[in-house]
Amino acid sequence: MFGQRLRHIRRSRGLTLAELGERVGRAPSVLSLLENGRREPKLSLIETLASALSVSSAELMKNQPPSRRAQLELALAEFQHDPSYAGLGLPPLRVGARVPSDVLEHLVALHAELRRQRTKPTATPEEARAANADLRVQMGERGNYFEEIEQAAAEALAPVDYSGGALSQGMLMSVVSHHGFSVRYVHDLPRSARSVTDLRNRRIYMRQEPLGMHTPRAVLLQTLGHFVLGHSAPADFGDFLRQRIEANYFAAAVLVPEQAAAAFLRSAKDARDVAVEDLRDVFSVSYEMAAHRFTNLATHHLGLPCHFVKNDEGGIIYKAYENDGVLFPADPTGAIEGQRMCRQWSGRQVFSAPDKFSPYFQYSDTPSGTYWCTALVDSGRERGFAVTLGVRYEDSRWFRGRDTTIRTTSACPSGACCQRPPAALAARWEGMAWPSARAHSHVLLALPSGSFPGVDEADVFEFLDRHAAS
Ligand SMILES: [Zn+2]
Repeated sequence: MFGQRLRHIRRSRGLTLAELGERVGRAPSVLSLLENGRREPKLSLIETLASALSVSSAELMKNQPPSRRAQLELALAEFQHDPSYAGLGLPPLRVGARVPSDVLEHLVALHAELRRQRTKPTATPEEARAANADLRVQMGERGNYFEEIEQAAAEALAPVDYSGGALSQGMLMSVVSHHGFSVRYVHDLPRSARSVTDLRNRRIYMRQEPLGMHTPRAVLLQTLGHFVLGHSAPADFGDFLRQRIEANYFAAAVLVPEQAAAAFLRSAKDARDVAVEDLRDVFSVSYEMAAHRFTNLATHHLGLPCHFVKNDEGGIIYKAYENDGVLFPADPTGAIEGQRMCRQWSGRQVFSAPDKFSPYFQYSDTPSGTYWCTALVDSGRERGFAVTLGVRYEDSRWFRGRDTTIRTTSACPSGACCQRPPAALAARWEGMAWPSARAHSHVLLALPSGSFPGVDEADVFEFLDRHAAS
């Protein structure tokens, strides 16, 4: 980009390479290397060049093509670097001044469509589920603890004066501005995005209202997480999911910092009084984030394997994690999302508890052992979801609620448990019922293709156009 801008500004001043070279005391060949992007300029040379061209260094270094023509040339160069293009065995196309701009427009549009077509197959529901299952295996192996993200979150917090408890709004904004970003709250964000970032002006646009269980604080930090963790446009669906998990992890690790949370949990364990709702209250995050964050820290810091699951009232699983051996229902690809959980599990039982918005506790005997679980139905905006955290029976002694007398028996995945209706009922109704199914369209349905699955790029670009000027 720097080379493109340099050439553009030099030509607009009517200077040859030799003339500019004379003004800055460099050989024309050196400037040519810079303009072709084959050499990185030193800061001192940028300043000399800027003053020789009477522009600011910032103008010279802007991350923006100087013209549509330059943008097309850059796009084509980038496409030609793609391994799949190299696979075609075509000679590289040198884009000289004589290639007309409308030909370039054609080539770039064709390449863009080819790339879009190529990313399509990875976004089928089967591929999406398989990618998800792969990731879950990796997370289980690491005890859901990602040291490098914990590290990145600790570094992000270093410049603010954080000493424990909930992160204040002021600290949060300092973390964001320390990375050179500003935040704009808007009402017209494209529906398909939870935030949109203008990389040119380093502005993060978002809604001020919560998005499902995601508070605006979490959405902001998830967005920042992509940049702090050095993510680039996802190469495929698996990459997209991994980035999303990492960005969510980053947000949780900033809002519930490792050191403070681990110390808090250790003393709760010493007092045999571990409770997810305390983690939620002390760090002022959603119950779901607190329960999920617990899984990051439990095995690494407390030596406790555990499981986490989020399901709706019908028992359909939306998210799940385990490293304690609990057997989730799974389809042949190993995917858990979209499967129906056993009726005897706490995530289903909590819906019929007398006070379902308070923590519910139960022991469940299952074919893979006995577990103690605590479940809660979210009372916030996203009603109708239960979040469960569970541990093996022998680990229940560290938790508040271990004295519950509720105990269920689950034989799932054996069909006789709850997947088939009781024999007497079946005898009365088999063949006499015709339910019209309600589609679970939100469980990893076929995702539209594109590098950011499901995001409407036209909406996003229009949105940025509307706001960039202001
Ligand atoms: Zn069952």
